Amino acid sequence: MSQAYLAFGANLGDRFQAWMFALSQLHNTPGCKVVGYSHLYETEPVGGPEQPMFLNGAIALETELSPESLLRRIQELEHQHGRTRDVHWGPRTLDLDILLYDDLVLNLEAPLPLVLPHPRMNDRRFVLQPLCDLASDHKHPTLGRTWGELLLACPDTSSVLPYRELSSHPGHEPNVTSS
Ligand code: AMP
Repeated sequence: MSQAYLAFGANLGDRFQAWMFALSQLHNTPGCKVVGYSHLYETEPVGGPEQPMFLNGAIALETELSPESLLRRIQELEHQHGRTRDVHWGPRTLDLDILLYDDLVLNLEAPLPLVLPHPRMNDRRFVLQPLCDLASDHKHPTLGRTWGELLLACPDTSSVLPYRELSSHPGHEPNVTSS
């Protein structure tokens, strides 16, 4: 059984519903179990065209899927949730990335590009902040620094604000084990 951490983002449509969709679909995927999830954050878009604010979060999974199968599964979920890939770094209904898969270091070009750890995770506050909710003392496999240390050193100054998800959506707590 491996442990993987995923990043969640959405800035089109019902963003909270996209979070619930991602958590429940991942939890119901054979060979996957959601073992933790972060708070949600409302964040300023970084890069790309002018676009609405994102909701960002992080998900901890125990999985028997290989990294390639997990990538295929998250792309399938993005697609099912209406994701199109028209604009690079453009707005999206659901974005899921694999941040870490155990301490695996990987750079595959085929059949699908897959880089682990995710190459941009350490310079994005909207990724590091939710990841730190899950385990701030976990060490990045190649940088040798904990996520908490990476967050403190993160040069990204874009806004990452707590999103009051449960008070905005009473009775809609995700039906999986909490972090
Ligand atoms: P995005 O538009 O952010 O969803 O990026 C998706 C593209 O990045 C796809 O072509 C993936 O094959 C590739 N990719 C490379 N490494 C990763 C990763 N760790 N997690 C998710 N997608 C990745």
